[in-house]
Amino acid sequence: MSEIIKTEAVVLGKINYSDSSLIVSLFTRNNGLISAIIKGGRNPKSKLASVVDVLNHIQIVMYKKESRDIQIISSADLISHYPKIKSKIELSGYAFAVCELVKNLLVENESNELIFNGVIRILSLIENETEHPAVLFGRFLMFFIKEIGYEINLETCELCSSELKPDVGVNYFFSNGFICDKCSKEKGNNHSELFNYLFCLKNRKKINSYSEKLFVNGIQFLINYLKSHIESFKGLNSLSML
Ligand SMILES: [Zn+2]
Repeated sequence: MSEIIKTEAVVLGKINYSDSSLIVSLFTRNNGLISAIIKGGRNPKSKLASVVDVLNHIQIVMYKKESRDIQIISSADLISHYPKIKSKIELSGYAFAVCELVKNLLVENESNELIFNGVIRILSLIENETEHPAVLFGRFLMFFIKEIGYEINLETCELCSSELKPDVGVNYFFSNGFICDKCSKEKGNNHSELFNYLFCLKNRKKINSYSEKLFVNGIQFLINYLKSHIESFKGLNSLSML
């Protein structure tokens, strides 16, 4: 038996299926990650396919069967289609990176409302360009890493547990994590700037210094951190332009 489900969703990706249909990957509020088929979706006149398009925030009605890998969407309404993100390549790269993270690192059919709300929020902030898109993506990445259980310790030294503070020397070693200056024997390996930046991302503080290089380094650091914790994670194709 299939049940009829109404839920919000973000369209993460789509592929062609047969001569006429599409298979879409959706992150839904109530059912987490799912795949669904849009029959006749390759027809340019398909109204359903124009709503269930990549990066759109939509409301769907679907027939869901636990035993089935691919669900059937019966109708969809548009909530937002983020026109600015789609028209600017520097914005769409980061929006697609958000989709890629969700698609690659969340488990299918498990709802996570906190992350769903985070995705909707970050897409709307990127759309409205409230900050540099790399900073917005960095904030999301920090939040996402915490929510999937790999929170980075920015509070205390991993070796002596003394409090880490912005603007005081901090070092990072992949084998240890962030450690205070006293514990660090190696000279010239100071990560204070990176630490301060991550501290601002995590604590939702304003970013005062404008350095695109730092924003990119921050993202690369967080991606490498994730790679070191999750073997199957190979990075984000959407950010290959960085
Ligand atoms: Zn220490």
